[in-house]
Amino acid sequence: MLADVEVVAETGSTNADLLSRLGELTKPLLRVALHQTAGRGRAGRSWQSVPGGMLMFSLAWPLSRETHALMGLPLAVGVAIADVLHALDLPVQLKWPNDILRDGKKLAGILIESAANKNGGTWIVAGVGLNLQLPETFEANLGRAVADAPWLARMDRNTLLAHLLNALAKAFEQFDQHGFSAFQARWNALHAYANQEVQIIDHGQILQRGFAVGVDVSGRLLLQTAAGQIPVLAGDVSLRPVDAL
Ligand code: ATP
Repeated sequence: MLADVEVVAETGSTNADLLSRLGELTKPLLRVALHQTAGRGRAGRSWQSVPGGMLMFSLAWPLSRETHALMGLPLAVGVAIADVLHALDLPVQLKWPNDILRDGKKLAGILIESAANKNGGTWIVAGVGLNLQLPETFEANLGRAVADAPWLARMDRNTLLAHLLNALAKAFEQFDQHGFSAFQARWNALHAYANQEVQIIDHGQILQRGFAVGVDVSGRLLLQTAAGQIPVLAGDVSLRPVDAL
């Protein structure tokens, strides 16, 4: 499937822009912004950008799956992006459920939103923010350590975008046919916290603590706890390595 592409200098959120236009779309649409003034993360958290310092885009794509069958899609998108970065000599790892890390710090965030397609199936909007070259003040303003990739920043942005778009298109088609099972082994191979002790946090409350075994065939995180192995659903929860607390 071919996608239309549009680029804007600035917008609030490319995800919000595309979500508001899904009713009029007839084919996939990629919307790129050089700067976002109201970038979104999960559960109302914000995604911060600096003009020109990162690659930010959202891709609207129609799937034949219904909304309830999309569990694991953010993880599949993480695998697709990580594979592109690896092919460009940038080793990254995945943090459950939806972050891409470089040297343990967040290099890119992924936000998947969806809406029922009036023609059947689902429209998904996959938003990606990839840090390329951040100013030194960025970390201090954000209040947490982040990663960027100055080497990638020197690469032609259109070429980088084309690699990512192709990989995402392939991942969506694979996910539509086979679900997360097609991505599970690769996700586990890229897992940043494999067998490390982690906590699962919801609004500041620790919900679970255990050793992160990996993800199951649906994309749930398997935690080895004192009470045995339990699967954790993504929902709005966040993961933190215990030794980093
Ligand atoms: P966390 O990364 O805290 O586990 P999460 O995966 O739920 O949480 P998201 O909703 O994906 O986080 O992203 C929002 C969070 O990402 C913000 O709360 C902020 O801490 C962080 N963040 C915002 N902008 C950037 C950026 N440009 N680079 C790295 N991290 C960022």
